[in-house]
Amino acid sequence: MNDYELKPRTRRDFLKLGGIATALAMAKTSLSKDRNNMLSNQDFSTQASFRDAQTITLFLCGDVMTGRGIDQALPYHNDPRIYEPYMTSAQGYVKLAEKANGPIPKSADFSYIWGDALEELRRINPDVRVINLETAVTTSSEFWPGKGINYRMHPGNVPCITAVKIDCCVLANNHVLDWGYAGLTETLTSLGGPNIKIAGAGSNLMDAEAPAIIELAGKGRVLVFGFGHESSGIPRVWGARSDKPGVNLLPDLSDGTVDRLAERIAGFKQKGDCVVASIHWGGNWGYEIVNVQREFAHRLIDQAHVDVVHGHSSHHPKGIEVYRGKPILYGCGDFLNDYEGISGHEEFRGDLSLMYFMTMDITTGKLAGLSMTPMQIKRFRLNHAHPDDAHWLQQVLDRESGPLGARIELTDKYRLSLYQNLS
Ligand SMILES: [Zn+2]
Repeated sequence: MNDYELKPRTRRDFLKLGGIATALAMAKTSLSKDRNNMLSNQDFSTQASFRDAQTITLFLCGDVMTGRGIDQALPYHNDPRIYEPYMTSAQGYVKLAEKANGPIPKSADFSYIWGDALEELRRINPDVRVINLETAVTTSSEFWPGKGINYRMHPGNVPCITAVKIDCCVLANNHVLDWGYAGLTETLTSLGGPNIKIAGAGSNLMDAEAPAIIELAGKGRVLVFGFGHESSGIPRVWGARSDKPGVNLLPDLSDGTVDRLAERIAGFKQKGDCVVASIHWGGNWGYEIVNVQREFAHRLIDQAHVDVVHGHSSHHPKGIEVYRGKPILYGCGDFLNDYEGISGHEEFRGDLSLMYFMTMDITTGKLAGLSMTPMQIKRFRLNHAHPDDAHWLQQVLDRESGPLGARIELTDKYRLSLYQNLS
């Protein structure tokens, strides 16, 4: 037996926690097979269908940075000229990645970047899919002066977002305005539409504050509010105002801010809704979770009745907490970027990323299970992480989540899950 094949302590624990998403995926697979097979699995399918009717599964991840180098590998490319101190062409990032990990297709198809994540999404088949899209979607050439890093993806590449049926792109981050207000406006028009909802940025404050509302047949709604905080590098001037486009910027993480958010969220939340607060906050490297963030997350749950705190900005996954039955991801880590071949911070293994599959019980509004699938970014593509790397990530996440009261275990060689008594 492989050393990394750790087992949950009991089968009941496993089903209760990370196993639910997996069980649902298995049930969905069994339901899609032929009738005989369905009948032979009747007990399990009935049980799982009952669970399925009571739960929703969200796919969440951190920063999806499909601009700059990755844009150069997609079917449509922007002018590669960029305005960074050490790099003047986005092609330079393609060359670095190829030098590190081998050739990247010259014009990859729209789904290329998702690699093995495609099959994982098919397997779990989550009800809702939310990403932090950390790039402008534009051909604008109005780079933000002095910003130093300019991310843009050609609008022709939006099908790479729809290729994996992303329901909501959160835009309250420190790259959405890299190509000026013209770039933001084009981002909003390129993404806004029947297939992709956006949250956290808008043509004025009201739009930027409005949640993305995802209706689920027979299972209520998921409301995603996008928030940005200056600690992630968002310039204060990027904040939307009543007469100015921009991002939904939190002025601070104070009690007063929570009070205002509670009022705003109450204006949208209906009984049975699942509210996600998706927050871009904190620096890029390091595991520390500052008290002010933790208290803010707790108060969002206590006072603003938020069900899920989806934090991002860190380039690597950070600790996880379950507070009063509500999950808090303090930092999901980069999911996809063009950093291959860039040295520094190797100890954080920024090449490893995580798919979070979070199952919420809609009758109680509480977490029913959290499973996570590690991926590795190579050649601008997501690949299943090697079992050694999955094990390393489990150890790190367990170490960082332990002080928050959560444990992380391996469910098999390739996947992790939360282990905690949720009752
Ligand atoms: Zn960021």
